[in-house]
Amino acid sequence: MEYEQIISKIIKEKGVSKEILESKIKDKILELDNLISQEGAANIIAGELGVDINESDLSQESVEIKKLLPIMKNVSIAGKVTDIYPISSFQREGKEQEVGALSLNDGTGFARVVFWNDSISLFKNIKQGDCIKIINAYIKENKFGKIEVHISFRSKVRINPEEEDFSSIKISANKVPCEKIDLAEIKKDSDIKVFGIIVQLFKKNCFFTVCPECKKSAKAEDGIFMCKEHGRIIPEKKMFISYVLDDGTSNIRCTSFGFDAEKILGISTKQAVEIADKHEDNSYPIEHSMNTVIGKEVIIYGKTQFNDFSNSIEIVSNKIIDKIDYSSELKEIYEESKYGDKN
Ligand SMILES: [Zn+2]
Repeated sequence: MEYEQIISKIIKEKGVSKEILESKIKDKILELDNLISQEGAANIIAGELGVDINESDLSQESVEIKKLLPIMKNVSIAGKVTDIYPISSFQREGKEQEVGALSLNDGTGFARVVFWNDSISLFKNIKQGDCIKIINAYIKENKFGKIEVHISFRSKVRINPEEEDFSSIKISANKVPCEKIDLAEIKKDSDIKVFGIIVQLFKKNCFFTVCPECKKSAKAEDGIFMCKEHGRIIPEKKMFISYVLDDGTSNIRCTSFGFDAEKILGISTKQAVEIADKHEDNSYPIEHSMNTVIGKEVIIYGKTQFNDFSNSIEIVSNKIIDKIDYSSELKEIYEESKYGDKN
């Protein structure tokens, strides 16, 4: 909708004068550091006043998540919320900014959906297991090369809309614990979700060997690798690492294998093998990544177990999520929401 159309609709529905409305729009533009157009500001004001400026809306057909591309704008998607990530807040140009994200699955795939500033209050109303329909989102590729759905001031989010049929989405949102837990409250033998900062990374051999067929651990006897099931094999190297996570309430030792270890070190197993070979040291990949890992904020899903040797509880991760530093991306997000659907 054009600027003039938006303001005349607000005036008609809310009975405000044109002067007051235009000064509200000017204030909004200043509030957002001139990063937004007049039309964009009018959109936000309409949203704040509860004036519906999108005629098409729910009738917009949803795009399957697996078909999303980073160049898409004004996309509608629908799915089940399988996870909710914590809100990050940070200062940017003297102002407090907030970013929240959730994971949405529609049965064809999943995508992270990012909410910021104006949409944060909406984000806070969404719960794990809710079905949501998002209208007018735009798609980006994040720095990990994954598709991300961004909510702009033009977007609408409907929580559990009756008009939409979600019955075909057979995704259970209950496989992972919903609520994060403080490290100080951790008990043994439980499934947990924790957020924290990696404060220590142990420098040791970060590889173990498995059978390439069945992925079971394979050890060399007299220099020959044997698998009980597959006989003589050329083993495949997998990574594992140990580190200490701290969330301000306590700290705990964690172990991550395979993909989780790659994610924490920020290098693939193939790269780690090359680094280790070059330095003839199987602990060198740890040293190589040390600076980027210490201080890294992560969300860890895993199981707790009691370690008799250290006489303490430890976590073995089964999924790691990086907390993305959105502060560096925020300027770009503003720009895209400003110019988003003019292309
Ligand atoms: Zn095997």
